[in-house]
Amino acid sequence: MSQTEEYDVVIVGAGPAGATAAAYAAQSGASVLLIDKKKDIGVPLQCGGFLTHEDTLRDLVPSAELPYQLLEYPKSCVHTSTNFQRFIAPDGYSKGFEVEADALDRRKFDRYLVKKAADAGAEILIGTNVTEINNQTVITDGIFGRNDYNCKVLIGADGPNSLVGKSRDLVREHDPMGVGTAFEYELSGVDVDKDAVEMYFGKKYVPGGYAWIISQGEDNANIGVGVREALFDENMCARDYLNRFMHVHPQASEKLEGGTIISVVAGLVPVGGAPSKTATKNTLIAGDAAGHIIATNGGGIATAMVGGKLAGETAADYLSGKCNLEAYEKRWREQMGLEIKTAVYARKLMDNLMKSDALMSKAIKVISPEQMKDIQCGKLPTSVKKALLKLNFGLN
Ligand SMILES: Cc1cc2nc3c(=O)[nH]c(=O)nc-3n(C[C@H](O)[C@H](O)[C@H](O)COP(=O)(O)OP(=O)(O)OC[C@H]3O[C@@H](n4cnc5c(N)ncnc54)[C@H](O)[C@@H]3O)c2cc1C
Repeated sequence: MSQTEEYDVVIVGAGPAGATAAAYAAQSGASVLLIDKKKDIGVPLQCGGFLTHEDTLRDLVPSAELPYQLLEYPKSCVHTSTNFQRFIAPDGYSKGFEVEADALDRRKFDRYLVKKAADAGAEILIGTNVTEINNQTVITDGIFGRNDYNCKVLIGADGPNSLVGKSRDLVREHDPMGVGTAFEYELSGVDVDKDAVEMYFGKKYVPGGYAWIISQGEDNANIGVGVREALFDENMCARDYLNRFMHVHPQASEKLEGGTIISVVAGLVPVGGAPSKTATKNTLIAGDAAGHIIATNGGGIATAMVGGKLAGETAADYLSGKCNLEAYEKRWREQMGLEIKTAVYARKLMDNLMKSDALMSKAIKVISPEQMKDIQCGKLPTSVKKALLKLNFGLN
């Protein structure tokens, strides 16, 4: 039989956004329930785990206050660290820039974040699917039975297909170019560059996106494709593109051939930007649910956590009468709204180039490593914008 329990804050989704929101809301003294349908936090894995170090994160979102969890996660959450990012053009030409980053073990990282939320006083409910939202009642079904939870504040940190966002009419279906499909393998027995993260371009392997090789240390690597289904050839799926990349790509296949697949990972990457509204008088959405992602590279761990922190803090401020919940909208847009919006614009310029291998190869030749870094970070200084526009109009 179902029971109804009362909480100040109920958070749906215990990924980086939800777990961070839970920690910040709970540390203020609010009663917080964090719910996830996964029976095991962080599993199944849905991420490549690439996270740049603090100086690059500060460069990425200069106005944001980074959550402490993003700055002091334990080394045990890190597979390995890299210091270079290399771009491989469709014609094989390559160049890159220096950047310190970690290849996270997202299973351990997500557990660490959830433990921080629990340490702050949040209750955690795993293996529990939120099936319906009825006003301020969250209806669940899962391994602990069917239960209803009433809350003053509902936070949707439930990923790209946010039920919470849809239930409040905050988000709609993604437009086909505004969502990427990511498909990856964790491989063992491969010989990849341990110091560099590699990104490969080319329509034949990655329509509307890129493939990556991220070392996980020793002879392990995470390889994947982030592609746009709207651009797929007939009868191809994301897995087919990854297999083609792994076995046929002239540079990559040499390194990957003979690798054993030890894990398959898939998920959606919302690269269409944030919806116009992410808050109502009783509900907030954060992380992928709110399009808190850098559209040029599909990286969303850091921005999801910034969004989660602000959602948790705003919920706490609202409960103590300091503001209304809609204050969240202004808070997150001030801290990272410009970067998220600019990245979507830059992504659209890149989309055009990616339609042609010749153009994309040219782009990688003429864009300087510094400019590449800017585009990766979703920045568009005038020089970068000019270079991209010139290429878009065939003027280079
Ligand atoms: C294959 C892939 C590779 C990626 N690689 C990188 C990378 O290398 N670096 C990077 O920065 N970003 C990467 N990203 C993006 C990154 O994973 C996301 O941006 C980030 O996880 C967003 O965090 P989140 O908390 O908003 O959402 P999520 O991590 O998706 O968490 C949402 C949680 O909500 C839960 N949930 C959803 N619906 C319900 C429901 N109805 N009831 C209960 N629980 C629910 C889910 O189980 C999930 O645990 C990648 C994404 C994919 C798909």
